[in-house]
Amino acid sequence: MTIAVIGAGAAGLMAAVSAAIHNKDAKIFLFDKNPSAGKKLLRTGSGRGNIGNEHQSISCFHGNDEDFYNKVITSHPLSFLLSVFDELNIDITVKDGYIYPRNQQAKSVRDAFITKLESLGNVRFLGSKEIISISYEKTGFVLNTDGWHYEADKVILACGGASAPDTGSDGSAYKLAQSFGHKLITPYPALVPLVCKKDPLFKTSKERMSASVSYKGHTATGELQLTEYGVSGIAVFQISRFVSMDLINGEKPVISINFFPESDSDHVYDMLLKRASSGGRYILNTLLPEEMAKSIIKSNSLDSVDIPSAESIRALSDLLTDYRLYVTDTKGFERSQVTAGGIDTSDIDPQTMGSFLRKGLYICGELLDVDGDCGGYNLQWAFTGGYIAGEAAAADD
Ligand SMILES: Cc1cc2nc3c(=O)[nH]c(=O)nc-3n(C[C@H](O)[C@H](O)[C@H](O)COP(=O)(O)OP(=O)(O)OC[C@H]3O[C@@H](n4cnc5c(N)ncnc54)[C@H](O)[C@@H]3O)c2cc1C
Repeated sequence: MTIAVIGAGAAGLMAAVSAAIHNKDAKIFLFDKNPSAGKKLLRTGSGRGNIGNEHQSISCFHGNDEDFYNKVITSHPLSFLLSVFDELNIDITVKDGYIYPRNQQAKSVRDAFITKLESLGNVRFLGSKEIISISYEKTGFVLNTDGWHYEADKVILACGGASAPDTGSDGSAYKLAQSFGHKLITPYPALVPLVCKKDPLFKTSKERMSASVSYKGHTATGELQLTEYGVSGIAVFQISRFVSMDLINGEKPVISINFFPESDSDHVYDMLLKRASSGGRYILNTLLPEEMAKSIIKSNSLDSVDIPSAESIRALSDLLTDYRLYVTDTKGFERSQVTAGGIDTSDIDPQTMGSFLRKGLYICGELLDVDGDCGGYNLQWAFTGGYIAGEAAAADD
């Protein structure tokens, strides 16, 4: 049996390993348009490779069909993935629930897969080979590259989404699945910085602080970065898919920032009132980055009074716990870490990642309409789906 895996990212590497382990007689070809495997994997977790997360909840994954990804994740939970990592000699370390390779080098995860593939002996990596089209003939699948064609009994599509297109996953591979009748749910950037309408806060660009960011019932707490164009940082990333989705639907999203994530307005009011009676107008000193505090004080005309009134302190505490920003855009696929939307999962079997539309075709990873929160969930999704697809494709039928 010949199995073609298209895409040597997290999902494709795992699919190739899984197929090779489950069927030692199968010949497996692993294609990538890049000369080497795992270009995006090397960038993950700022080069440290956040490959999973101890905190597991289905609410950390998103897509149109919760039942689908729930079945995939519950049939192959994190504990299963960790046992596969162990077989691949990927030792792990955990920091605040975030799982990394022990040496905190994403490259070593990629290299562990390559070492395993070499030792298995029945996988051939074909780099710098972009699959342009696939057809299904009487003899099986025919994969076309520029000038060459390859034949395969089974095909695993693991071509990624449209985010960070310079890594190779630029959205051009959706058409490979679509050519077999699979529907595409409009892809949009997620885990992405947000561009906002001009605001006095942005004068203080490049400030970083802890804050919570809310949008339509979704709240995330973590680092917030103020930039010259808007906001970034983990807290923004976590809610960005919901904002991004509404932007493509023509809505005008407004996000709310609480600069005191542990407190509400009343609590902040009490604290600022106490500070005002002892320290006058510098009531935000040490609470927020200096430039930002000055900008907020100035925009509320508090710099012209020695002791702010209780009324203006109330207005200030309301503002600091519910600071509204008007989002006009995202920084696009170029700056997004994952793609929301993708190939519709209603035509995919969650037990095998097999296509209901074409026997012998499997689809996994970010190419599908499933995305995860920041924190290791996207690699978990890619690795898990890759494993299932590889095992199923390797089975004789
Ligand atoms: C900067 C950055 C940091 C990230 N950090 C994390 C993190 O720490 N933790 C986490 O969980 N997630 C992280 N992610 C997200 C995560 O990297 C992706 O969700 C995951 O890599 C997707 O895996 P994949 O195999 O589905 O796709 P990809 O890794 O994108 O791999 C797809 C491969 O297919 C190849 N390909 C595409 N089309 C073709 C074709 N037609 N022919 C041949 N080859 C093709 C591409 O070249 C690519 O190598 C990060 C993403 C970015 C951009």
